Amino acid sequence: MKKLDIDDILNELGIDPNKPGEAPARPRARPTPFLPGPDATPGPNFSAPPDATRRTKPGPGNPAQGAFLPSSPSSQRGVGRSITPRTYEPDEAEIVSTRSPEQPSSPIGEAMTSIHQPDQPGALTNSELTDLLLSSGAATQQQLAGAQQIMRQSQGRRLLDVLVEQGAIEAKVQECVATVSGMGFEAVDLGKGLEGGFDGKLIQRLTLEFCQQHMVLPLRQEGLRPVIGVTRPDTAFLSDEIRRRLGVPAVRLVLVTGFDVRGALEIVGGPMKSQGEDDVNDILSSVQETDVQVEKKSESEVDLERAAGENPVIRYVNYIIQQAVKEGASDIHIEPGDKKMKVRFRIDGELYEMMQPPPAMSAAITSRIKIIANLDISERRLPQDGRIRCAVAGRKLDLRVSTLPCGYGEKVVMRILDTRSINVKLEDLGFDENTMQLWRGLINAPHGIVLVTGPTGSGKTTTLYSSLRTLDKTSMNISTVEDPIEYHLDGITQTQMHDKIGMNFARALKALLRQDPDVIMLGEIRDQETAVTAVQAALTGHLVLSTLHTNDAPSSITRLVNIGLEPFLVAAAVNGVLAQRLLRKLCSVCKVEKEPSEEMKEFLLMQGMPSDKLWTGKGCDKCRNSGYSGRVGIYELLVVDDQLRDFIVRSPNVAELRRLCAERGMTTLRADGLKKTASGKTSVEEVLRVTESAM
Ligand SMILES: [Zn+2]
Repeated sequence: MKKLDIDDILNELGIDPNKPGEAPARPRARPTPFLPGPDATPGPNFSAPPDATRRTKPGPGNPAQGAFLPSSPSSQRGVGRSITPRTYEPDEAEIVSTRSPEQPSSPIGEAMTSIHQPDQPGALTNSELTDLLLSSGAATQQQLAGAQQIMRQSQGRRLLDVLVEQGAIEAKVQECVATVSGMGFEAVDLGKGLEGGFDGKLIQRLTLEFCQQHMVLPLRQEGLRPVIGVTRPDTAFLSDEIRRRLGVPAVRLVLVTGFDVRGALEIVGGPMKSQGEDDVNDILSSVQETDVQVEKKSESEVDLERAAGENPVIRYVNYIIQQAVKEGASDIHIEPGDKKMKVRFRIDGELYEMMQPPPAMSAAITSRIKIIANLDISERRLPQDGRIRCAVAGRKLDLRVSTLPCGYGEKVVMRILDTRSINVKLEDLGFDENTMQLWRGLINAPHGIVLVTGPTGSGKTTTLYSSLRTLDKTSMNISTVEDPIEYHLDGITQTQMHDKIGMNFARALKALLRQDPDVIMLGEIRDQETAVTAVQAALTGHLVLSTLHTNDAPSSITRLVNIGLEPFLVAAAVNGVLAQRLLRKLCSVCKVEKEPSEEMKEFLLMQGMPSDKLWTGKGCDKCRNSGYSGRVGIYELLVVDDQLRDFIVRSPNVAELRRLCAERGMTTLRADGLKKTASGKTSVEEVLRVTESAM
């Protein structure tokens, strides 16, 4: 397929890269669409040319134009190569360097640009440079031919980068570029650390971020004139920006290698996010529009899509969704920030920052998601909820989308509702044998209340669904009341709650009871009316499954009393409570055995656990260096028997109840977790982290 060129992207975005005289003057920050303030209209500081001003108007009827404004002045200046592979800032200087002949630059600068002139794919027109590369041995004929081939296929790339990929040595190539462009070439000695020949103070004055963003390495002061290493010769704007930032009349630019810049900046500021030229083009080129198929497209939507920027944005959004599915994420967070947009995925319960879309695309990404979620794209001041039905790699997915206006635009969160993740067999939930047997007894009882408890995201719904699926749907009438219905269950009547119109849990439950039910699953018991109705249902011969928000099993009993149930009703109706959490599993690729410390041994012995061997995840690519991949449940099951009923009637406090349960041999959440550390499923740290609140 055709590789996307940055100019193509800009064209798609309605920014004309060829327009002369636009580069230096740009509108200030993107007008916040829902906060018409001084920023939204040209103020005294506003020095944009008329055509730029025109584009800043965020007309609701023309979302694309409003959407594609450059977002920050600093990112629009200077020759910038993006450092993060997933970030690409199409800035003017880059455009100028590749396109605009009027731009003041050295003849060699122009010659260099002609090498990566996108309009002439593969044309290595600068014979002076190629001759020198060959004669100096910096590149072989074969490497040059290979580079030519690659540049023909993927336009807009730099010869240097392609040659280095082909095996040429960056320093040698860069030296040739320096010679041809009449600049000096210098290398630093990274082995000497901070003494390696670069200027840490100047880096600080320019800011590390700026240096990283523009691949700039200050080398030293020469009198009043700082010597600054850059990685490309066509740097007119960059030089202006550096002078401005340092407050000096002149700087001397020399060429250095990208390797040296990255190495030195890492010495100063720690690891840079990533290296190389793996930019948005590469991301986009690997994603087809059809990779993620959105269902239900109407004519009008297609038009809106065109307005929202077409290919690059659609592909980028597809890429986000694809990656999320590939990484097994449960949620996608897309957050506009001051300068950058952030995309984070929740994987195994934790948020990871995954990518930073190009700022120029930010608004369009939000618009695109709103379009496919059937939301009103012109409404930016109110939160909205929608749904996207799509197929990724042949897998049908539902995404529940919600938007929320925030400081820098709209934050979008997409919950990935993957039927596969909820389709877990009861046997695969991680119950130990004893718990499994007791649990099966509870869910197969003819009547009574069975509760699953734990915080949000602890897998309660999965447990309930898995349990319901084991019941005989042919001979029983099984119904649910949910808020919201996230997954469809075969053979089960599911009812959606609507609090706004008075369809609350209690009312739905009362209606269900007139429908001759056998088993009822109630999304949650959170008020007295629902609790009372649930007890009535249980005491009149129905099995009621529901959830509560409590930390552990014993406190569910006292919670029901606190909600307003008489203790004797709780004792009579409740058959059992299952408390649960999800623990991250150690990554199967990188987990290794580890000798426990003396303290740890002591701790484990105190908990009555074997202490000779533990496991840990070293971290690898597969687990994003977290050492964990996938999750497993831990459980604490309280079965209410006659002795416990007698006790509950006396309305004990939580501590008493807990003590009694412990005496009777109930496995606590923590104990169940520690058992799972012995078999190498998870780590002690993880167990302690997750069960902290349960103790
Ligand atoms: Zn791993």
